[in-house]
Amino acid sequence: MTSVKAEPETTAEQAARETFDSLDPATDEVVGTYPVHTADDVATAVERARAASSWWAGLGFAGREERLQRWKGVLTRRSAQLAELVHAETGKPHGDAMLEIVLAIDHTAWAAKHARKVLGPKRRAAGLLMANQAAIVEYQPLGVVGVIGPWNYPVFTPMGSIVYALAAGNAVVFKPSELTPGVGKWLADTFAEVVPEHPVFQVVTGFGETGAALCRAGVDKLAFTGSPATGKKIMAACAETLTQVLIEAGGKDALLVDSDADVPAAADAAVWGGMSNAGQTCVGVERVYVHERVYDDFVKKVVDVASSVRAGSDAEAKFGPITMPAQLEIIRRHIADALSRGGRALVGGEDAVGDRYVQPTVLVDVPEDSAAVREETFGPTLTIAKVRDMDEAIAKANDSRYGLASAVFSKSRGVELARRLRSGMTSVNGVISFAGIPSLPFGGIGDSGFGRIHGPEGLREFARAKAIAKQRFKPPLLLTTFSRTAKTDATVAKLITVLHGKRR
Ligand code: NAD
Repeated sequence: MTSVKAEPETTAEQAARETFDSLDPATDEVVGTYPVHTADDVATAVERARAASSWWAGLGFAGREERLQRWKGVLTRRSAQLAELVHAETGKPHGDAMLEIVLAIDHTAWAAKHARKVLGPKRRAAGLLMANQAAIVEYQPLGVVGVIGPWNYPVFTPMGSIVYALAAGNAVVFKPSELTPGVGKWLADTFAEVVPEHPVFQVVTGFGETGAALCRAGVDKLAFTGSPATGKKIMAACAETLTQVLIEAGGKDALLVDSDADVPAAADAAVWGGMSNAGQTCVGVERVYVHERVYDDFVKKVVDVASSVRAGSDAEAKFGPITMPAQLEIIRRHIADALSRGGRALVGGEDAVGDRYVQPTVLVDVPEDSAAVREETFGPTLTIAKVRDMDEAIAKANDSRYGLASAVFSKSRGVELARRLRSGMTSVNGVISFAGIPSLPFGGIGDSGFGRIHGPEGLREFARAKAIAKQRFKPPLLLTTFSRTAKTDATVAKLITVLHGKRR
C-alpha cells in the first residue's frame, strides 16, 4: 500500500480558512492559532485514517509495540516542552503538568506492552457437546476511533483513549478541546515523527461543530471525555449511524472518613483531591462525609491545610487559574447558594471567587439538596458533612446522579466500604490512586458515563471480539445436518439430562 500524505494547502486555502486562538488563561496572551476544521476536513481526515488503519493493523502487536514504545521515549525526553505547553494553555503549575504527562507515559508503556496478551488469540474450552471443536477468541481492531477530549487534563485524559486505541490496532482522529488545541497537535506531531509512513494518529481542531462532525464522519467508535450535557449530544449524533460510543463524563466524587481513619492523612488528601488543579479534576474530591467521632478533628486539620495553599501564577502558588472563564460563575453560584441556605465557609467563601482565580473554599453545614452538594462545581471547594456512621456516609455518597470515583479513609473497613460505593473507581486511604495504576479500568456510572479506558478493559473497549470455532475431528453425534436421526436426538436428550438435569 502506498503511504497517504497530506496535500499541502495553497496560500489561498490557508487564507480562506477560519482560525481561532488558544489563550493563556492567566494572561489572555495568545499561545497559538489553529484552524477551525470543517465537516469536510474531518471527513477527509477520517478517510485518510481508514487507509492508515489497515497498514497499522497489519504491523501486528510487535510492530505497534515497538513504535508506541519509541513514541513513549520521545514523550519522556521532551516532557518539559510538553509541560510548558500544558502550563501555557491551562494555567496549571509545571509540576502538575508533569504529573499528568508522567502518568500518560506510564499508560502508553503499559498499553503497548500488554496489548498482545489481552487481545491476542486465546483458546477457550469448547464444552462436552462440542468437544470436537477448537474454540478460539481474539480481539480485532475496530478500524478508526474518533477521540474528543476536554481541557482539564489535556494529556492524561485523551491519552487514556488514544494510546489504548492505537495499541489495539486502530487509527485515531483526535479533536482536542478548543482551550488546548496546541497540546493535541503536539501529541500528533510527535507521533508522526515516530510513525511517518501513514497518518495513523491525526488531530482536527475547532469547537463543538468540529467534534459533532467527527461523530458523523464514519468512525467505528467515538470516545468522548467531557461534560454529561455534551456526552448526550455525542450519543445522539452517533446514534444516527449506530456508531459505538464511550462516555467519560463529569463527577461529584465523595470522600468518606471513618472513625478509625488516619485523620491528618485524610485531611491532607481531601484538600489535595479537592483543590489541586484548582478543583478542575473529573475525579477530584467535591464532597466529604466524616464520622461524628472524628469530625471536629478532621475539619480543624482541613482548615489548617486549606488555609496554607493558594491560587496564583507565581512559583509558590499551589494551583493556577480557572481555565474556562464561564466556570467562575458556576463556582460563585454554588458557594452563594450554600451560604444562603445555612452553610458556613470556614475557609474562603464568596470573596474567594475572583476574575481568574478562585481561592480555597471549605464549606460546612451545607444542605444535601443544594447545588454545592449535587452539581459538579469544578472549583477548589469542598463541602464537609458530619455523619452518625458509615452507613449514612455511604447512603449520602451514593445519592448522586454521578458515579465516577470516590475515596475511603478507614483502617479496618476500607475495602468493604469501597465495594459499597456506587462509583467506577474507589481509592482506599488515598485519593485518585487508581488513575496511576495502568492495569486498573477507569470509567463511571450514571451521568459519569459508561465504558472503560485503561487496563485490559480499556484495550478491549477499542476492539471487537472475534470468535472462531474450528472442527478438529468429525463429531460422534452429527447435530448440524438435516440428516440428523431420531436416535441422535434421543442420545442428545439423554446426554443433556445427565449433564444438567440433576436436582440441586
Ligand atoms: P465539554 O463537554 O464542554 O467539551 C468536551 C469536548 O467536547 C471539547 O473538545 C468540545 O469541543 C467538544 N464538544 C462540545 N460540543 C460538542 C458537540 N455538540 N459534539 C461533539 N463535540 C462537542 O467539557 P470540558 O469543559 O472540555 O471538560 C470538562 C468536563 O469534562 C467536566 O465535566 C469533567 O468532569 C469532564 N471530565 C471527565 C473525565 C473522565 O474521565 N470521566 C476526565 C476529564 C474531564
